[in-house]
Formats: sequence, structure tokens, C-alpha cells
Amino acid sequence: MASRKFFVGGNWKCNGTGEDVKKIVTVLNEAEVPSEDVVEVVVSPPFVFLQQVKGLLRPDFSVAAQNCWVRKGGAFTGEISAEMLVNLQVPWVILGHSERRALLEKLSDWTNVVLAYEPVWAIGTGKVATPAQAQEVHDGLRKWLQSNVSPAVAESTRIIYGGSVNGGNCKVLAAQPDVDGFLVGGASLKPEFVDIIKSATVKSSSA
Ligand code: PEP
Repeated sequence: MASRKFFVGGNWKCNGTGEDVKKIVTVLNEAEVPSEDVVEVVVSPPFVFLQQVKGLLRPDFSVAAQNCWVRKGGAFTGEISAEMLVNLQVPWVILGHSERRALLEKLSDWTNVVLAYEPVWAIGTGKVATPAQAQEVHDGLRKWLQSNVSPAVAESTRIIYGGSVNGGNCKVLAAQPDVDGFLVGGASLKPEFVDIIKSATVKSSSA
């Protein structure tokens, strides 16, 4: 078993209606995927559907918000604070996505952080990084963590790849030693998201 559990995130972005959400969740709930000790699956619907998805989704998958406000709550029209997400028991949030370029404060605790490398040219374009390109950058990021944070954080932090991941290219990417999972946009709205989740077995069978 790899020491870092494979992580697959589905970023639904600004897509869907209540009916679409039900359909996507039904596909996920009916899917046969590797067990929770092999892969961690997190889907990120738009804020307005978070509670609905949380209520309908199978218990071995969880949800993420697509962003949150960097400060405490207050007079900030339209923002959603981290406290609100905690209050609604939303355990994950995507921060600093290139489509938002939000502020990212310096981190003091890396325990619950999953780092995503997403080349901007690959997001939503159908142009995916080669496995060698992804591995090179992930390796560089892990070395950065090693020198700038700690060897323990470098070893335990999951570094996931995002940018035009689909059912056809996920396995070769997953086979790279420093690719610990994926952040998936477009394909997370389709049934092939299940194949991407299943690519976690590339890791568990090679360990
Ligand atoms: C993303 O939005 O983070 C993303 C990687 O999108 P896509 O998979 O559609 O390229």
C-alpha cells in the first residue's frame, strides 16, 4: 500500500441544476470503486448545492466547497466564511484555484492539506501534461516542501495533478511515483469520473 492515500477530487465548477446534481450523485452512489483505504473521493459542487449533495452522497465520499472567504464573517456581501463551512460540516475547500486566484495565507499546519499542480494551459483545454511533465513538477514540489517545510511534510503531503484528466489518460498519470491523485474538472461531471477514481488501483497494485 502506498504511504499516501490516492486522492480524487471532482470540481464541478459553476455547472448544473438540482436535477443534474441528482443524476451525477446517482452515478457516483451506484459506482463500484476501490475501498476507502485505497482512494479518498471528494466532490465539489457549487455552494448552492453543497447541502443537497452532502445529504444524498454515499458516506464513503465527501464534499468540498469551491472557495471560502479569507477572513472571519462580517460585512462581506456574497462571501462564505470558513466558520460557515465548518458549521455545515463541509470538511474540504478548494483554495487558490487558478480560475479564482484567491489569496493563500502562509500555512502553519499541513496536516489536512492536499496540494494540486494544475498547469493553466491544461485546465479545460483537453491538453493534458505528459506523465513525465507531471512527475517532474510533482517531484520539484515535494523537494520544495522538503527544504522549506520539513521532510515529514514532504513525505506525507498528497500532491495531485489537475488539467484535462479523463478516463483515458488517468492510469498512466497515476502510475507516476509523485502523482498522488487528481483534481478533475470537466470529467467529474461525467460517468468516466468513476474510471478516474478506479485508477487508484494502479498505486495499490504497484506498492
Ligand atoms: C480544474 O478545474 O481544476 C480542472 C483541472 O479542470 P479540467 O479537468 O476540466 O481541465
